[in-house]
Amino acid sequence: MKLKIALLLSLVLLFSCLAACLRHGGSGNPGSQKYEAEFIGLFDTLTRVMGYAETEEEFRATVQALKDDLEVYHRLYDIYKDYPGLVNIRSLNRQAGQGPVEVDPKIIDLLLFAREAYDLTDGRVNVALGALTAIWHRYRENGISHPETARLPDRKLLEEAAGHTAIEDLIIDPASHTVELKDPQMRLDVGAIAKGYAVEQAARAAEARGVKHLLISVGGNVRAIGARNDEGESWRVGIENPDHTAEDYLAIVRAADQSVVTSGVYERFYLVDGRSYHHIIDPDSLFPENRYLSVSIITPDSGLADVLSTALFNLDLEEGKRLIGGLEQTEALWCLPDGSLVESEGFASLKAD
Ligand code: AMP
Ligand code: MG
Repeated sequence: MKLKIALLLSLVLLFSCLAACLRHGGSGNPGSQKYEAEFIGLFDTLTRVMGYAETEEEFRATVQALKDDLEVYHRLYDIYKDYPGLVNIRSLNRQAGQGPVEVDPKIIDLLLFAREAYDLTDGRVNVALGALTAIWHRYRENGISHPETARLPDRKLLEEAAGHTAIEDLIIDPASHTVELKDPQMRLDVGAIAKGYAVEQAARAAEARGVKHLLISVGGNVRAIGARNDEGESWRVGIENPDHTAEDYLAIVRAADQSVVTSGVYERFYLVDGRSYHHIIDPDSLFPENRYLSVSIITPDSGLADVLSTALFNLDLEEGKRLIGGLEQTEALWCLPDGSLVESEGFASLKAD
């Protein structure tokens, strides 16, 4: 229930945020009209799309094609649900320890990207953590539906699972289109990267179809195609305040061909003895740590943004700053437990006035 409320609240805020962005933003191209569309169900969240088009039909066709693309990724990358006749990440998990499994090239590409993410973040984002995150998922779900029985998982249980999280046991063979989970107890959890990666691929496909200006938000994972108009005026994207009682955003940033992605403790959490435990697991401590309330990333690639926002959660501020500082066109905003903000070096230049 709490989860639902939190989700709803964040969606409400996102709505107002995007509405605010557009109000601030003024009009698009001369002769074109502003259109918005939204749909639920993909990646368990709300998708909003906005842009300017000459006709409503033109906009609807753009949105439909985008939605169709996202749906393909959603099904392939699902770890909780089966789809008849489809081999997805859930099927892969079920066949752990049973040899190579033939998969769609989109799964191969995601997992190759996941390996890059592991290397870039020194294992702070590890899709092979599934055995561990599944335990936390179970305890969290139980804690949300039965708060009176909410408990923390036993450390022994977590340590046992941590013994089955070696990324080396994920064998990807692009030539034969197969993936093998060598360790029978290993599980993939692509929750930290799949949405951002899918949004990036869908956005690129839209660009290839000729879409020049569009703002896509899949549950707050925002990707801007182009600027808002041919004059190059940027989209404005509000960064959600983890304090849902606050009225303003943490920041409003300008985005053109950029992604704005946030990981926040408010997205999924449960309470044990009055203390909150969120959904990002530190592979060193095996627990969710309380370093930040949220971390936002601005960088062109939405897949990278998704990776980094999760990774920074598992890094101290100085380590995180070093990681961001070494990447081109990449900025970050950390919201600390006391609500104060820390910006990466070039973040200020992206803020809207
Ligand atoms: P995000 O909301 O993008 O930060 O991703 C969080 C989700 O990624 C969680 O709900 C888990 O499914 C998964 N996850 C949690 N911790 C990790 C981690 N250290 N590495 C990879 N995936 C993780
Ligand atoms: Mg992420």
